[in-house]
Amino acid sequence: MIAGPSSGQPRSMPRIDRCVKTVLDALYPIRCAICGQAEETGICANCLPGLQRIAKPCPRCGANFSGLGTCGSCQISNPQYDATLAPFRYAPPLSGMVHQLKYHRRVSLARPLATLLLHEIAPFTQVKPQLLIPVPLHLSRLIWRGFNQSIEIARYLSQALDIPIDRTLTYRKRRTQPQAALRAKYRRRNVTGCFGLRRPLHVKSVAIIDDVITSGETVNELARVLRKHGANLIQAWAPLHTEL
Ligand SMILES: [Zn+2]
Ligand SMILES: [Zn+2]
Repeated sequence: MIAGPSSGQPRSMPRIDRCVKTVLDALYPIRCAICGQAEETGICANCLPGLQRIAKPCPRCGANFSGLGTCGSCQISNPQYDATLAPFRYAPPLSGMVHQLKYHRRVSLARPLATLLLHEIAPFTQVKPQLLIPVPLHLSRLIWRGFNQSIEIARYLSQALDIPIDRTLTYRKRRTQPQAALRAKYRRRNVTGCFGLRRPLHVKSVAIIDDVITSGETVNELARVLRKHGANLIQAWAPLHTEL
């Protein structure tokens, strides 16, 4: 099901909902996820400059490298996706935020993580994706966690960028191990063939949304399926990159 970007936006809210939101915002102001001061976007201007960025990301895979063009790994493997935005290193305090989001069900942290992306995203929306596609969880993990963190991050991106999100187009056929827990040589095998599409893809330009890009194998496998079904411009957006 494709959900329009307007859901949850103040401009589309009924008047009663706007009033409730105003009261709730006054009683429970959104706070910076790092320092705790009231802050509308979830990361304040004082904390943002102190976060660790990928110094010189490869435009294709997002990993740090020092040369020109794309990194050696991308030149050899030729990923299925065209560009990556994953601007911040998987390091404290952001790594702790992701851990709290995924393993302690602090869903409110999806907002500041999406905010991190929005600060950097302008060059990546010059050719605006037609659809945001969150990386799907296997049903068993979705039931265990209660939500998909990639969908929660994508929800804010959708609202801010006015791009639809499709939460159910893709699915995970089987359970996979967390990529970060595996040695590099096992990561591709772990995700090969694990994604499927429930219905035809009707757009050409998409952005895959994840919380953390580890080796890029997960995004690459999902991109392979999307490209097979007609996508010809595929971006990968995630707030954090592990630089492995
Ligand atoms: Zn702060
Ligand atoms: Zn690369």
